Amino acid sequence: MKIVGLIAAAMATLSLASAPSLAQKKSGVDKLYILDCGEGIAGDISRWSPGVNVGKSMPFVDNCYLIHHTTGWMMWDTGLSDAIAAMPDGQAPSDPRMTHWKRPKTLASQLEQLGVKPSDIKFVAISHTHPDHVGNVEMFPQAMLFVQKAEYDWPGANNAPRFKPEHPVTKLEGDRDVFGDGSVTIISTPGHTPGHQSLLVKLPKTGALLLTGDAVHFKSNWDNRGVPESNFDKGKSAASMQRIADVLAKEKAQLWINHDKAQRDTLKMSPQFYD
Ligand SMILES: [Zn+2]
Repeated sequence: MKIVGLIAAAMATLSLASAPSLAQKKSGVDKLYILDCGEGIAGDISRWSPGVNVGKSMPFVDNCYLIHHTTGWMMWDTGLSDAIAAMPDGQAPSDPRMTHWKRPKTLASQLEQLGVKPSDIKFVAISHTHPDHVGNVEMFPQAMLFVQKAEYDWPGANNAPRFKPEHPVTKLEGDRDVFGDGSVTIISTPGHTPGHQSLLVKLPKTGALLLTGDAVHFKSNWDNRGVPESNFDKGKSAASMQRIADVLAKEKAQLWINHDKAQRDTLKMSPQFYD
């Protein structure tokens, strides 16, 4: 009896001692903020869903996500350039069917409100290199950038590189467990651009979220699996949407669509957060 009691006591002590580190290992991510990184009007949404709603305009939003992990801060997408905030009428697109963007708030001011300095950001991962997602990458010159090699190597206008060559970078070829504990995972979803990626975040209370980038642009397009006319690879776009559906089912995750204003209107914006 005595020995059994001792063993039981020792085991209880052991499990108590190991409980916090196990819990921490389970999900080191503890906060996610949605930042307002742009608001605009899409001129003709049939651009994103060919043949459907021709000539119809729709409000779009542009989100950045600030994620806190016990080992550091991470940004997912950096939104439209903060410089647009200073333009009284925003940035009109070259093609009126595209999106006329405004920036009611800067990214810098939203970070400041939270007491987070740009130099506090350890990792920046971007869904893809369109200007409404990479506008402020160089606000974080010290942060390790996670980008697919296919995206990094994709020549920009006039063959220009898409990032400053001196920016620290990890070029990915597929998925990546960012913090090594399964709490934040980059999911390769090519098609919209050559190296488009999405982000799976597992929060302790909210549960799993899948942040789409532009693998899907708005809810009805997701429901109908619409592939935008300007996507780099339409076959891969469709395959990536199927992959997203599979991840949602497997992880019981919510789908958060970056540009979907109707959905964002139902979500808490920074300084409120999800945990
Ligand atoms: Zn976009």
